Amino acid sequence: MRRKLTSGHAFVALGANLPLDTPNPEDTLRSAMAAMIPLSQQLPVLSGIYESEPKDCPPGSPLYLNAVVGILPRADEDPLTLLHKLQAIELRFGRTRSGVINESRTLDLDLLAFGDKEMDTPELTLPHPRAHQRRFVLQPWLEIAGNEWLLKGRTLGDWLLECQDPPLSRLQEW
Ligand code: AMP
Repeated sequence: MRRKLTSGHAFVALGANLPLDTPNPEDTLRSAMAAMIPLSQQLPVLSGIYESEPKDCPPGSPLYLNAVVGILPRADEDPLTLLHKLQAIELRFGRTRSGVINESRTLDLDLLAFGDKEMDTPELTLPHPRAHQRRFVLQPWLEIAGNEWLLKGRTLGDWLLECQDPPLSRLQEW
């Protein structure tokens, strides 16, 4: 049974395609999900883990593993404070930035949505500006949020039908 989501939920996309403490980035995703527990008033809602082809990435980039997590932010949290906490988690999980666009990474955390808040600042755009174009975001997000969640006025399923990205494979449950 799907856990009840509220209009106050926030959603975070996880991605990883480089090893960290173990050869398998899946371990990083699982640990990063656990690191998000303190950011949520309820146990986070977790999608499965999906494998995707690198999209708009430098040639030779390894396959990605992706997932989406739903959290219920604390009352004193706002989108920017949450983004900063996600960036701190990225750093703890070995994230470095050389400036190359879409370079491989041990962990990427994108804030997809924070309730129905909309903003467009140099530091944070909500909803995430490319979420609706990416199967590796839409498919795990649909898995946990269903079609009740609207993104830019449309259901996640509607966006998926339009998405041209190749199919993803979903890893086995743990
Ligand atoms: P990336 O290197 O792909 O993780 O991009 C991170 C950059 O995008 C940071 O400078 C963020 O401030 C900015 N950014 C803008 N909107 C968002 C968002 N919704 N979620 C995460 N990062 C964002």
